[in-house]
Amino acid sequence: MENRVLLVDDSRLYRHLVTRYLESWGFDVSIATNGLEAWQILQQPESPTVVLLDWEMPGMNGVELCRKLRERDPSEAYIYTILLTAKEGQANLLSAMEAGIDDYLVKPFEEGELKARLLVGQRIARLQRELITARESMRNAATYDPLTGLLNRREIIARLRQELAKAKRDKSSVSIILADIDFFKAVNDELGHLVGDEVLREVGRRLQSGLRSYDSVGRYGGEEFLLVIPGCGPGPGFERADQIRASVAATTVDTSAASRKVTLSMGIVVANGHNQPDLELLLQQADLGLYKAKRNGRNRVENIGECESSTPAPPGP
Ligand code: GH3
Ligand code: MG
Ligand code: MG
Ligand code: MG
Repeated sequence: MENRVLLVDDSRLYRHLVTRYLESWGFDVSIATNGLEAWQILQQPESPTVVLLDWEMPGMNGVELCRKLRERDPSEAYIYTILLTAKEGQANLLSAMEAGIDDYLVKPFEEGELKARLLVGQRIARLQRELITARESMRNAATYDPLTGLLNRREIIARLRQELAKAKRDKSSVSIILADIDFFKAVNDELGHLVGDEVLREVGRRLQSGLRSYDSVGRYGGEEFLLVIPGCGPGPGFERADQIRASVAATTVDTSAASRKVTLSMGIVVANGHNQPDLELLLQQADLGLYKAKRNGRNRVENIGECESSTPAPPGP
């Protein structure tokens, strides 16, 4: 990847000349004869990230190609562009730079000059790759719980807030389930904390696999999970919760130390679609349901039902 260059030029003569230089310096050269062909090559995964571009070409020219590259999603690899231009293009160079060209060389150029510019391009492209990787891993760490891979507390609450806002506009319901592993302390005490971690991971996996694409689950705290089920009123919401509860309890969890039945207690509350209560009240009510489920014997769901705001909804339009 590091040593690859894409050369884009409609002149066969220049392609031959430049390719000879590039190959003699150890570059792996891909070739396109116009902007459109280059664009197609650059859409492929693992394509070169340094591009030598002729300006005037039939179809899509070099500057147009660059403009299109700069509109790509910022999570995609940065493509470093060096424009090869004839003398008469010089007056327009400012517009080329504005389009996102990184560097240029005026034809005809010294081969040493080309090599120097390429080395800079490779360096910048590599730094850019490292930056994207670092940003992605930071984003990952800020979004997901490292143990279970589920959304972390902050993210699942943010997801809940989003779903509530959407439901308020659509006047639809959102079911909110708070789930807590029963007697989890005993797992840690009897099998050790690391085995406890294995159980948490497996419970997380089972919860996740019970969801539809628009449902969300996150790790809310130690052995507590928050599930957000949009578009579900109290009846269907309760059924979903009980299905999920039953699916976790159905088969023993196999850990490196022992197989163990693991159960969850759950509280479920539904945000009213017409007079939605605030998020804090909803979480409080879900917690109340969870507490009741514990008190009433565990491995069960307690349905708080629909919850609405204590202040009446403003009159409709
Ligand atoms: P209950 O049925 O009433 O919920 O009982 P419980 O034992 O599950 O509840 P309790 O609150 O007494 O204990 C929760 C335990 O979860 C205590 C804590 O050490 C453990 N825990 C919290 N986070 C983690 C974790 O990341 N890994 C492991 N292994 N244990 C954790
Ligand atoms: Mg040309
Ligand atoms: Mg517990
Ligand atoms: Mg707990």
